[in-house]
Amino acid sequence: MGPATFSKIGAIWSFRRELYFVSLAFLATLLLPVIAVILLTHAGIDIVSARLATFNPITKLVEIRNPATGKVIKQIETTVVWPARGVVTLEFGESNWPYQPFHSGIDIANPYGQTGDPVTAFMPGKVTYAGEISWGFGKHVIIDHGNNITSIYAHLDTILVYKSQEITKTPKVIGLEGDTGWATGPHLHFQINVFGIPVNPRTFLGQEDPI
Ligand SMILES: [Zn+2]
Repeated sequence: MGPATFSKIGAIWSFRRELYFVSLAFLATLLLPVIAVILLTHAGIDIVSARLATFNPITKLVEIRNPATGKVIKQIETTVVWPARGVVTLEFGESNWPYQPFHSGIDIANPYGQTGDPVTAFMPGKVTYAGEISWGFGKHVIIDHGNNITSIYAHLDTILVYKSQEITKTPKVIGLEGDTGWATGPHLHFQINVFGIPVNPRTFLGQEDPI
């Protein structure tokens, strides 16, 4: 083997090393969204969601922010129309292991453990889903309120609205409280999403309990 062969081997070797680093960087780039999702679902979701919807104590309005720029894109008059009456059994962000490490909504239960309490839309909007799955939310309703705000009413016993139905005024009964899907007892799981990310419903509903 002459010196030319050695330098060729050397070139291939360094090329392979470079390829190795390039593919590592490429892999890391590919994994970034996965890492972001893991962070969001575990620790970061609280920080992200706390910035999407904020209550302005001076104007008494809820401000919806663009997730990318943080700028206020909509101001909404707050409402104290709780979707159900009862006791709050699990707040937003709390852990109800092993079901969820981070509670994406607020649970409201009948104080006597009964089924059938009326569930109302918390804001006017349009029903985008009214159906049942055998797991998770069970029988549930999803309402689109515009301005990238949606709400979910889960574990219903009975659904009283249909898909694409317009809810022009509220309180409007949309179903009856139950324990369908993953529920350990009759309660309403109420969730508000902004840009698809769960936010604390108390930002809209206030700190008082729905008794
Ligand atoms: Zn819940």
